[in-house]
Amino acid sequence: MNLPERYQTILNRIESSCQQAGRQLEEVHLVAVTKYVSVETAKAAIENGIQHIGENRAEGLLEKQQAIGRNAVTWHFIGSLQTRKVKEVISTIDYLHSLDRLSLAKEIDKRADKPLNCFVQVNVSGEASKHGMLPEETIPFVKELSAFSKIRVVGLMTMAPLIEDPEELRAIFRRLKHLKEEVASLNLPYAPCTELSMGMSNDFEVAIEEGATYIRIGTALVGKEW
Ligand SMILES: *Cc1c(COP(=O)(O)O)cnc(C)c1O
Repeated sequence: MNLPERYQTILNRIESSCQQAGRQLEEVHLVAVTKYVSVETAKAAIENGIQHIGENRAEGLLEKQQAIGRNAVTWHFIGSLQTRKVKEVISTIDYLHSLDRLSLAKEIDKRADKPLNCFVQVNVSGEASKHGMLPEETIPFVKELSAFSKIRVVGLMTMAPLIEDPEELRAIFRRLKHLKEEVASLNLPYAPCTELSMGMSNDFEVAIEEGATYIRIGTALVGKEW
């Protein structure tokens, strides 16, 4: 399949998952993850209608942004962000999906000139190899973020482990959704926490069924060139 065909296939699958779950298509934002592809492929995706681009490294983000333009699309930083890289990317991103420690919040607060839309990353499955707050640490962490005026918690994000069993995946996504609702119910002015960033190439349908509002798709949409 070429890119327009892959894009159409993904759109069809998003639509059927929304139907399945009784959700509106507009609730689900498709972030094209371009970390494995060239600037040219990212541009082609945008020409086909993609409006959200996600990158997981500062270098990749800045390279694509120089070629594409800061305001041409909405920019998402989805990877683990090193504290020393904050100043390079802070003013060029619209969403950070990987807020996972206070030291990062502190650096963002110091460098940003306006509040940054952040997802708190949660390691729902508790795998040692994964970044993110453990579920039980999440609420205390969000409360501590009140110290930082430049952090806006728009939602929670997770990366599910590589498992095949859709019901096991479903339990993970469902846990994140419940946690999101708990944070939202705190009614913190800086943490509306209305969004759920979950679902990738292999698991986005289950994620949509469980309430994802941002899905992050690389391989199945734009492919993998390296
Ligand atoms: C790479 C990546 C994705 C996309 O992964 P695919 O399996 O290629 O769809 C999504 N989220 C994060 C955080 C990633 O690093």
